[in-house]
Amino acid sequence: MKEREKMSDKIIVDPWGKELVEDYSRLIKEFGMKEFDAKMLPNPNLQMRRGVNFGGTDLEQIASAIQNKKPFYALSGIMPSSEKIHLGTETVIQNIKYFQEQGAKTFVLIADVESQATRGIPIEEGKKRALEFHIPAYIALGLDPNKTNFYLQSENKKVSNLAVIASQKITENEFRAIYGSLHPSKIMSAFTQVGDILYPQLEERMPGVIPVGIDQAPHIRMVRDVARRLKANYEFFLPSALYNKYTSALDGSFKMSKSGEEKAKIEIPEKDLNLLAKKINKALTGGRVTIEEQRTKGGEITKCVVYEYCKNHFIKDDKILKQMFEECISGKNLCKECKAKYGIPYATKFYEDFNEKFIKAKKQINLGKINFVE
Ligand code: SF4
Repeated sequence: MKEREKMSDKIIVDPWGKELVEDYSRLIKEFGMKEFDAKMLPNPNLQMRRGVNFGGTDLEQIASAIQNKKPFYALSGIMPSSEKIHLGTETVIQNIKYFQEQGAKTFVLIADVESQATRGIPIEEGKKRALEFHIPAYIALGLDPNKTNFYLQSENKKVSNLAVIASQKITENEFRAIYGSLHPSKIMSAFTQVGDILYPQLEERMPGVIPVGIDQAPHIRMVRDVARRLKANYEFFLPSALYNKYTSALDGSFKMSKSGEEKAKIEIPEKDLNLLAKKINKALTGGRVTIEEQRTKGGEITKCVVYEYCKNHFIKDDKILKQMFEECISGKNLCKECKAKYGIPYATKFYEDFNEKFIKAKKQINLGKINFVE
């Protein structure tokens, strides 16, 4: 992000990059989003209440659909470029789960075309990975398979037709302004995503919400531009978006990413819980230089990656999280004690729960209990 800011005054968010964002409020302004206020939605989930979601586009139409029990959809994509996901993906899944529980028609696509175009993963391999790992993982993290429509990009003709139509609606200069590059695989991938996001409205015109990491903001911007330009023929609702912050890598220097080094990320699953404990022990904290300083001033909790993971993923109980917070800032706990009391046990519990649910979800897949749409 810093390099890009040096080149231009405008922030360019790169969906394929790895930089962290330093100033989310600036991003809200430059991308024309609104600051997200969890009170606008009924019974907001943990990520919404704890500030992981920070911005939104046109969320009012989704809040209104929920309130008035009108149809709307929620959509997310699985990129089968790796055989695991990382902790940051959990936020998106929790948000999809939230909207599903609020009545959204839920679509989860397997981005096999995109992972072939941008990462060279053969289509068949992408499908295999999705069935063996990604779909059961999404179910284990909370999606209801009976209420989720899964599909493969490569098998959905309506998506590829929409992608072709979308490609006629954006100029070269506009594409470059949104993405900062004109790499052919990125062009292919971006237009396929437009097809995905608008596809549910071919069946039924209704508002839709796309919960995404902020790195996906360029895709949202482009799909809204395309939907606006197709309005005369299709009368699409402009898709809404709910944005979440990046998850920091273990050393706090970059965003966590699937392609990043294994030692820099916490993955799902983490089968070796001893290795998980080692990763937590090595993570960046807000510990002070000396024990005396930490006892008198407390830890710098806003810099602490262990606290970030506990707040955003591992500790569900608000009272326990508050206790962790207070014991840090008062200097009662040093980092080693804090990790032993909170970081490692709660991370371990998260993974034990996941592993158990994953085994059950795999059985559902094997029994063919998922909805595949074409
Ligand atoms: Fe982080 Fe805990 Fe250290 Fe505070 S005491 S900086 S929360 S590890």
